Amino acid sequence: MRLLVIAALLASSIPALATNDGTIVYDSETALVMVDVQNDFMPYPGSTLPVPDGAQVVPELSKFVSKVAENHGALFATQDWHPAGHISFKSAGRGGIWPDHCIQGSHGSQLDDGLKVTLQAALEKEGVETQIVRKGYDLDHDAYSGFEGVNYQGLTLTQLLKQKHISRILVGGLATDYCVRATVLDGRKNGFEVVFLQSASRGVNVHAGDVTKAIEDMRKAGAIIAP
Ligand SMILES: [Zn+2]
Repeated sequence: MRLLVIAALLASSIPALATNDGTIVYDSETALVMVDVQNDFMPYPGSTLPVPDGAQVVPELSKFVSKVAENHGALFATQDWHPAGHISFKSAGRGGIWPDHCIQGSHGSQLDDGLKVTLQAALEKEGVETQIVRKGYDLDHDAYSGFEGVNYQGLTLTQLLKQKHISRILVGGLATDYCVRATVLDGRKNGFEVVFLQSASRGVNVHAGDVTKAIEDMRKAGAIIAP
């Protein structure tokens, strides 16, 4: 009898893990990392690097924002944050392949307005404030992964996640085959349980099959692929 009680106590103290059928566990150790949901990646007039169907990630991510906030998890949004003449820009003539995008402070660098509304609601209803993490700010160094970014105080994403005792990150946004992939892989390297949110991500597919390969890379790294 005593053993049974101990077993029951132990079982209740072990956090349930997300499973490979796509079930996601929401608790205070869960963080949502929204990657680069910025105007320049959206199919809007004036956007410089629109991701096909990119706007579809906004309503999908919004569902996850609500669930994470209701369960007192943490919210993070990354921003590509480039100076003019950044090495990743084709126009800079230093091997970059991308059109100029997400220039610091520009309209294109801002988070999507629809997402901002959802994040504001999470703050007002649940008191969960979204932390912004910016990357790619060094003129001579590109950075796809959110883990290469810092917040306004210069703290890295890893430091911020540890501060909040996060063990599990849900990652979605733009683009699947670049910054989302890099963030998922770095999340695994940094020891987090990582769930890739396929429904809330879209890719570029510069080369046919890039998105499929990116998801396979995530799976191999031990990430859970949520449909
Ligand atoms: Zn960029």
